[in-house]
Amino acid sequence: MGDCIFCKIISGEIPVKKIYENDDMLAFHDISPQAPVHFLVIPKKHITNLMEVKKNDTPLLGKLLDKAQEAAKELGCGEKGARFVINCKSDGAQTVDHLHIHVLGGRQLAWPPG
Ligand code: AMP
Repeated sequence: MGDCIFCKIISGEIPVKKIYENDDMLAFHDISPQAPVHFLVIPKKHITNLMEVKKNDTPLLGKLLDKAQEAAKELGCGEKGARFVINCKSDGAQTVDHLHIHVLGGRQLAWPPG
């Protein structure tokens, strides 16, 4: 997907601080962290947002969530927890149109969101 910044991160065109990578996904630290721990888990397949996920993508979603949990634990969030967020389209405040899971931890977060 030509102009997608996350596809450019996957191709290596835009550098990031990588946490994990395999054939299906990439996890990396957010460039503008909103908490002491803030990283993103993205599929290498370009899926625009959660509304566009097809039934045959559900095993991939499971793998992304599994890695989000594992990396959150590795980064010290296992005991106190973290927030796992998927912003979707305009009302969901999604700014990058490539599916991604945010993981935020390392401080007490407020709820509900503004
Ligand atoms: P969202 O608003 O849910 O679409 O979140 C997109 C996230 O991508 C934001 O938290 C950005 O800070 C993050 N982001 C955008 N560009 C980069 C980049 N080059 N490297 C790391 N994170 C990025």
